[in-house]
Amino acid sequence: MMLGKGRTYWLACALACAFVAPAQAQVAPGIDALIEQAETIKTSQPARFYEVLDRLEKRVEEATPEQRLKLRLLRAHGFLMKGKSEPAIRELRQIQQETQDPEMLFWTGSLLVNTYALTRKFEQGLTTLNDILPLATKVEKKDVRHRGLLVAGLLYNQVGEYTLGEQYAQQVLSDAPDGRNRCAAGNLVAEAALGLKKSPSEEAIFSTIKTCEEQKEPILGGLTRTYLARKWVEDGKVDQAIELLERYLPAVTATGYPLVISEYHAMLASMYLKLGDMRTAKSHANEAVERGAGMTSLPLVVAYKTLYEIAERQGDPAGALVRYRQYADADKAYLNDVKTRQLAYQIVRQQILQKTQQISMLDQENQVLQLQRKVDQQAAQNTRLIVILLVLLIASIGYWAFKIKRVQLSLKKMAETDALTGICNRHHFTLRAERALAECARNGEQAALIMFDLDHFKNINDRFGHGTGDWALKEVAEASKGFCRRIDVLGRLGGEEFAILMYGCDLRAAARVAEDCRVRLAQIETRETGHVFAITGSFGVTSSQHSGYSLARLLSHADKQLYRAKHNGRNRVCVYDSEQDNVRASNVLELPQRDRAEHLGS
Ligand code: GH3
Ligand code: MG
Ligand code: MG
Repeated sequence: MMLGKGRTYWLACALACAFVAPAQAQVAPGIDALIEQAETIKTSQPARFYEVLDRLEKRVEEATPEQRLKLRLLRAHGFLMKGKSEPAIRELRQIQQETQDPEMLFWTGSLLVNTYALTRKFEQGLTTLNDILPLATKVEKKDVRHRGLLVAGLLYNQVGEYTLGEQYAQQVLSDAPDGRNRCAAGNLVAEAALGLKKSPSEEAIFSTIKTCEEQKEPILGGLTRTYLARKWVEDGKVDQAIELLERYLPAVTATGYPLVISEYHAMLASMYLKLGDMRTAKSHANEAVERGAGMTSLPLVVAYKTLYEIAERQGDPAGALVRYRQYADADKAYLNDVKTRQLAYQIVRQQILQKTQQISMLDQENQVLQLQRKVDQQAAQNTRLIVILLVLLIASIGYWAFKIKRVQLSLKKMAETDALTGICNRHHFTLRAERALAECARNGEQAALIMFDLDHFKNINDRFGHGTGDWALKEVAEASKGFCRRIDVLGRLGGEEFAILMYGCDLRAAARVAEDCRVRLAQIETRETGHVFAITGSFGVTSSQHSGYSLARLLSHADKQLYRAKHNGRNRVCVYDSEQDNVRASNVLELPQRDRAEHLGS
């Protein structure tokens, strides 16, 4: 595929010149200097340019990533100048993968689009265009932005989408473009107007031509004049159109660009035919065919058509048939080409639409998923909340249960214990003692009951005060505990009267315990109260063997022995004896009443 397609090629060159930034001397001066040199001479001295490019290629290893990108650009330019579009496209695509910079992406994208247009890969061109156009607003370099927009205008005109073509060209024109870009944009606007069957503004066309002339852009200037000529022909000003094209034909021929040259000749041929000058018409038509050989272009169609009409008018049916066939083939090829380009646009448009739909579908799916996630999160949060509430509830239930239990326990303890001494009160003693007796009865074990009453306790209260009396009661309880096992039951039956139910004990064992207890009480040291006095008790003992397992009976019999102990002088143990029914005093340590009085008095 040849690349010499007039305006498209011009843009490719212009684009390739646009971007390479000035050198950064301090990084790697040698390479930067070479890049700059290549940049400067690439259009003016192609042979030197390739030499410099060669030198750069040899030093690619030492280049920074940025320098490599620039080298790729130069390479792409080199390939494009040699008409090698495939490697140029490869380089440009590579640049696109290596950079994130929107400006660079936009610019290489523009160059790619232009290269695709040159090689008639319209689909790829349009797709790439679609990718890069959104970046245009991020491109700060005006020139780069304008050239990209011009490529867009160019491609859209090429695929027959003149409205879009005009739009992008106008966008450039309204943004104070430089001379070159104004020339190109004006050209596109005029082309689009004709494509849209609108009469282009003569004034605008003249202005564009003038700009192109000033910018030394003979190809674009020449091309723009064809639009003016076409407008004049449509307006019936054929002579004026001929005069214009004839006048600029030499300049256009000097550019060497076949498409424009062929266009001039083809237009002149058809215009001369209109005027009846068949000789001149034929000469231009032949020239157009020669210049446009191998191209699929409108000038070729026009030229063949003119030649066919001339042959017919000259009464040359055989020649006319040959020309007609050539005309028909060229026309068919041209129409096919137009259709192919329009089809490319439609295909890409559909693809983009599909993609947009897919994106919006994905978007919706995404929204649904997000919603779902939110709901899930909410549910999870709710679950967490419920769990927390449950835990709190359980904890508070546990706490209250614990508290209630504690209250219950303390209430129970309060109900069961004697507040002063901390041992069982009468009621609880009775319960526990009855339970223990029942168990002993069940198990065939013996049980014994010791009862004792402090002697002359009233005197202690009277002489040392109730507080001391209380103290003495506590001491007695504490001392008595020392004679009880866990299975025995100690209780304060009331006032200064106590009882011990001895589990699994016979009378003898209980009598021994009572005696030990009696001795122990008499040894209680009272100095801490500030007074010295003796604490003694009188003990009565009985057992199940003699009194049975009824607590009431046991209490009654023990009480009887206690009474006897009192009666016999106190501070002694009396044991129940059913046979003799009398008191058998233990080895008591009986203090004479006198001594006690002395004690109390001290
Ligand atoms: P006896 O040897 O005949 O038993 O003489 P006693 O003085 O101990 O006899 P009595 O039963 O008449 O006196 C018991 C006294 O115990 C009467 C009461 O004031 C006193 N008392 C009863 N309960 C308490 C108490 O909780 N604290 C104090 N400090 N004294 C109490
Ligand atoms: Mg008493
Ligand atoms: Mg007493």
